[in-house]
Amino acid sequence: MDFKEHIRVINDFPKEGISYKDITTLLRNGEVFRASIDALVERIKPWQPEVIVGPEARGFLLGAPLAYALGIGFVPVRKPGKLPGKTVRETYALEYGFDTLAVHADAIAPGTRVVIVDDLLATGGTMLATANLMKKIGADMLGMGFLIELTFLNGREKLTEYPVFSLVQY
Ligand code: 5GP
Repeated sequence: MDFKEHIRVINDFPKEGISYKDITTLLRNGEVFRASIDALVERIKPWQPEVIVGPEARGFLLGAPLAYALGIGFVPVRKPGKLPGKTVRETYALEYGFDTLAVHADAIAPGTRVVIVDDLLATGGTMLATANLMKKIGADMLGMGFLIELTFLNGREKLTEYPVFSLVQY
């Protein structure tokens, strides 16, 4: 399946000069959506994870069906102030300013085998922050999977500690 055919590119969103990869056109097509989850299952199953972790918000869209397909749990990583229990936080630098991500402190038992999934790897900041959160709560980090990778932004250079794959590259 050529997933690229189903990803819509919108220029100058969210600001001038950005070529945004819109996955809503892939998600709305049942056959393509299922094929994308199946492709993630094929890559991730051999790692034998016990939990899939996905960062807000598009990480939920892929991570939850992926966990369901694998018959394992899903742990959401969220913006601060959204999770009701005690959380662990990680702050990271953006192009302008900072952002923070949070996860429940008791989301996983120490030593749990974890794979993180997100829709897109750009600079790698989101994924590195998510991986650092997982480290803080004692996860055994097996690797990371993305639907899309913007290779020209070299996000992988931030993630050299972990196995990383993507289904589609720009
Ligand atoms: P990074 O932290 O790697 O620079 O950016 C990746 C994060 O930003 C991901 O969580 C992803 O959802 C979001 N993102 C950045 N650019 C795009 C884009 O062009 N399309 C989509 N769908 N998400 C993007």
